[in-house]
Amino acid sequence: MSATLDLSRATQKAATPVNLSGLTREGLRQALIDADICPPEKARMRASQIWGWIHNHGVTDFDAMSNVARDTREKLAAVFTLARPEIVERQVSNDGTRKWLIRTAPGIEIETVYIPDVGRAGALCVSSQVGCTLNCTFCHTGTQKLVRNLTAAEIVAQVQVARDDLGEWPSPKEDRRLSNIVFMGMGEPLYNLDNVADAIDIISDNEGIALSRRRITVSTSGVVPQLQALGERTQAMLAISLHATNDPLRDVLVPLNKKYDLEALMAGIRAYPGLSNARRVTFEYVMLKGVNDSPEEARALLNLIKGIPAKINLIPFNPWPGTDYQCSDWKTIERFAAILNKAGYASPIRTPRGRDILAACGQLKSESEKVRASTLRRAEQDAA
Ligand code: SAH
Ligand code: SF4
Repeated sequence: MSATLDLSRATQKAATPVNLSGLTREGLRQALIDADICPPEKARMRASQIWGWIHNHGVTDFDAMSNVARDTREKLAAVFTLARPEIVERQVSNDGTRKWLIRTAPGIEIETVYIPDVGRAGALCVSSQVGCTLNCTFCHTGTQKLVRNLTAAEIVAQVQVARDDLGEWPSPKEDRRLSNIVFMGMGEPLYNLDNVADAIDIISDNEGIALSRRRITVSTSGVVPQLQALGERTQAMLAISLHATNDPLRDVLVPLNKKYDLEALMAGIRAYPGLSNARRVTFEYVMLKGVNDSPEEARALLNLIKGIPAKINLIPFNPWPGTDYQCSDWKTIERFAAILNKAGYASPIRTPRGRDILAACGQLKSESEKVRASTLRRAEQDAA
């Protein structure tokens, strides 16, 4: 009998309290009602007040909410949390790029990268999944099994951790260091659209982090049936990982192409809500030596995207241990870019950033795996 009672107490203790910073405004209002923090008619006002503390001021302690009555703060602290996840590792590259390895739950490790001087001031590259199911052949994340979708709270937490580190609370009106967000970390955001859309609602809210939706870019390998929903629900800027201009090659590089081929993809992009010269789609094109980098392919690319308000981002391939691909020569990349520029497209070559800390595109997760492998080796040696 007493054993049964002990067990039930243990279960109650183990239940993790809901982290309020991952809830949308509506979710927060409802949570306050459900937890009896305030009556329904006061919930909107109370949620607004708490929202400002969490998302404008970045507080992690209910006691800091100075205009909330002490007994309400105590009630909040008893059922909810505002705790940040654990930062397992923080690295700063010699070019100023910062990378955090964040652990949100056992086995759930996320990499987030801040790149200065990108976008208006600096871009944060966030992850939407742990691992990826899509197996693009040139991408290191693709070699890692999907662990799971990240929750909205885990996506927002990446922004909070970066802003803690950059000292950006409360939300600066101007001169922000973190001015743009790109969903270009681990995972395919359109396979986790609900949580990505909730996270975008939270980080773009005017009384919180207040990052304009036009400074938030979602990159997809081409999950065509979700493009419309992405545009309607988030009004985010769209980036497409194109990488090839014909189906046989794209089938190899981005195997999702077998499901949604170039014709379907281009039709989906043309229909993306809100596309205009002021809101262009970005085509990402990774430069792979001898694979997709010829002048003919540059011209085929122009042909493919004709009439679409677009810019093209040429990404020098970032190698990772075990890959057979190589990065195109610099001259080849410049020749490719020149063809696009001549046709009137902005086609910046993405300077690899943070390579020394393995923070560049497609390198995410390798460092942490290495670290884990070396820890394991040490542990094995210790045990021997
Ligand atoms: N899954 C989404 C977003 C994450 S990948 C997508 O595929 O769009 C972000 C970008 O990095 C994509 O354009 C991807 O193709 C590119 N990328 C992946 N591996 C790379 C590598 N090794 N070198 C350079 N770019 C890479
Ligand atoms: Fe997944 Fe994007 Fe990597 Fe492809 S490029 S495996 S979709 S993370």
